[in-house]
Amino acid sequence: MIRISQKLYVRVALAIAMVAIVVSTFASALSYYFGLESRQKSSYLLAEQLSKTVEQIAVIAAYVSDTELAQEIVNGLAINPSIKSVKLSNNEGLEALSGELSGNSEEISLPLNHPFILNQQIGVLQIYLDDKFIQQQTQDSTRKEIFILLAVSLILAFFVSLLVHRRLTKPIQKLIDSFDLIDPHSPDTMRMLPYKRKDEIAKLVTGINALMHELHHSFSVEKDLRVQTQILERKFRLIFEQASAGICLIDDNDTITTFNPAFKSYFSEQDNDELTTLHFPTLLTNPDKLQQLLREIRNKPQVAQVALDIECNVGDKQKWMHCLFAKVTDQRAQQRDTGSPMVEVILYDVTERAERELQTRFEADHDLLTHLLNRRSGEKKLNKMLFFSIKNQQPFVLMMIDLDKFKPINDTYGHEAGDKVLKELSKRIIKMFNADSDVCIRWGGDEFVIAFNDDADNYDAIKEKAEKLLAQIQQPIQIQPDLNCSVGASIGLVIAPEHGKVLHELLVNADDTMYKVKEQGRGRVEFYSAD
Ligand code: GH3
Ligand code: MG
Repeated sequence: MIRISQKLYVRVALAIAMVAIVVSTFASALSYYFGLESRQKSSYLLAEQLSKTVEQIAVIAAYVSDTELAQEIVNGLAINPSIKSVKLSNNEGLEALSGELSGNSEEISLPLNHPFILNQQIGVLQIYLDDKFIQQQTQDSTRKEIFILLAVSLILAFFVSLLVHRRLTKPIQKLIDSFDLIDPHSPDTMRMLPYKRKDEIAKLVTGINALMHELHHSFSVEKDLRVQTQILERKFRLIFEQASAGICLIDDNDTITTFNPAFKSYFSEQDNDELTTLHFPTLLTNPDKLQQLLREIRNKPQVAQVALDIECNVGDKQKWMHCLFAKVTDQRAQQRDTGSPMVEVILYDVTERAERELQTRFEADHDLLTHLLNRRSGEKKLNKMLFFSIKNQQPFVLMMIDLDKFKPINDTYGHEAGDKVLKELSKRIIKMFNADSDVCIRWGGDEFVIAFNDDADNYDAIKEKAEKLLAQIQQPIQIQPDLNCSVGASIGLVIAPEHGKVLHELLVNADDTMYKVKEQGRGRVEFYSAD
């Protein structure tokens, strides 16, 4: 609400009144100054004329020294209000005075000459003007002028403010009232402003109306877009929230920023807050490999999507997730150059399938009884190992082991007892050798092949190792709660490349050596020799 003192028409009226006061004060000062001067002049002239009028009689009064006449003359002149005092005197001591003599008053002095002798002065008629009276008169008339000027100015101010109010502030107020009805958040309230006159305000209103029309249009378009966006957003949220696959976004630091409920259910051990700040690779069993992969997805344009099965840690359990990694290409983010792109991960639990596959693969490559490599996969590994050993000039040692008198255990204690023996011996073999670098194979029946690289080309050390294994094999084996048995083994040793450069040759030589041991009484370790 605008205060009355701030209203335009009131301000205009006040301004006019102020100007009127200043102008009238200035005008009055000027008027007083010039009025006083002209009044003084006219009083002087009047007094001069009056003195001229009575000059003849005054000469007579002075000539005959007639005091009465002289007094009558000065009294008659002094009647005039602008004359303060009049004095008539002659050389013979006549003196007639009317009013008070004052030194400061303007004086008109008329010399009275002899009526018969030319240029002989016989007396003087002195007229003193009443300055105070003249000033008073001038002030009175100036006051009147000021009053009239002020009255005219105030009336003018009143009418001008009325005009300003009717022509300017009232229409503007109407426009303001119409504006107040407009709610910027609801386009329906945007009505055109009414204005019928054809003046500058009309131009302003036309401009505002055109602007509002445009705004109304933009609002409507924007509203439609917002509705469509909301529908789309709802659909996408539903897809995101109800998807059976876990979805998450990871930023350029590999930290999880967003995830859906399915993702959370997979990693239910972690609470919500922990998941949002969690370093994604830490969920996995092998984080380093994944970090490398994420770097490649982000930085290599040719690697946009990667799908693979990954082993994850969920609490103390291991789960297999099929993961689809995809680079999120956000053009706006790229324009802003906000670092590496985000990566979207879609994953679902394939633990059962992966475990089945692992089991199948394990079963295909391993002997089910002893869990050692079977002959087929073992041979493959041996070939690889031999190839790298020869390439790197590392001694490649192969042992062919056949149990001694194993068949009688089967025959005496049963096949199951024989199986127990095979299992226990396999455990002892695995314990003695390195599962990652060495190869332990159940070659068949009671035959085993073990291959390893040895640092030194030292036959004695290798033989010693084989003899330690033999000693382990010979240790008693519990086949029933109260029954132990023991077996021996014959071991043939070959070393590549001295005893052969291809696997077949090495295997044959190891087998021959092992049979030689058998023939020579069993229970020993023997290196191959060509003779
Ligand atoms: P040798 O001292 O000459 O080696 O004689 P051996 O008694 O050890 O008999 P051989 O090596 O000639 O034969 C291996 C035997 O191992 C034959 C078979 O009865 C037995 N055998 C083979 N595979 C299995 C198996 O999976 N389980 C059991 N329990 N016995 C097996
Ligand atoms: Mg045997």
